[in-house]
Amino acid sequence: MPLQPAGRWTRCPFWRPLPVRRQGSAAFIGGPGRREPPRVRLAIKLLSQAPTERAWTIAHELSHVLRAQEGTRVRPSRARLVAGAALIAAAVLGLATAGYVAVSGGTDVGVPLTAASGAATGMYLVLLGPDRAEEAGADATAATVFGEVLSAAGVERMRRDEGVLVRYAPTGLRTHPHPAARRAAGLAARSIGD
Ligand SMILES: [Zn+2]
Repeated sequence: MPLQPAGRWTRCPFWRPLPVRRQGSAAFIGGPGRREPPRVRLAIKLLSQAPTERAWTIAHELSHVLRAQEGTRVRPSRARLVAGAALIAAAVLGLATAGYVAVSGGTDVGVPLTAASGAATGMYLVLLGPDRAEEAGADATAATVFGEVLSAAGVERMRRDEGVLVRYAPTGLRTHPHPAARRAAGLAARSIGD
């Protein structure tokens, strides 16, 4: 089974209107017992968005992975899935009935069409609840875990917390470049992009 997107309709703008910052990016989480590592796909358009939007999208998608790993990801219950499947069947039946009435010369297609659209709406609402809860949870995790460090003050604090020895270690000996070097590289990249 392929990895499932964390949000079922993440890639479908008609089913779930999303904030622009998350369109096109998605976290793919393996199901229970799966061995595949989680994946995060980032939309290429992130490169043309403001750095804060870009950082927030990355934090949000990584939060889905974090939540899956710690077992707090919101998933639809079996009862909801059964109800959703029943409503899909009802919508299909309503459409088929309307088609049959129309083909056989009848004019009263309003009732089955209304039933079909009602069932489709119900299915959407039944399945939307857990999806929304997971998205809200990922936002909360992103804000808690990443929000602070993504601010300028947070970056400064990280720099202080690195300690004197680490702060003055030559870049060649560091696992990550010195914060000042990272900043310089970021500014250089931005001026190239301008
Ligand atoms: Zn999400």
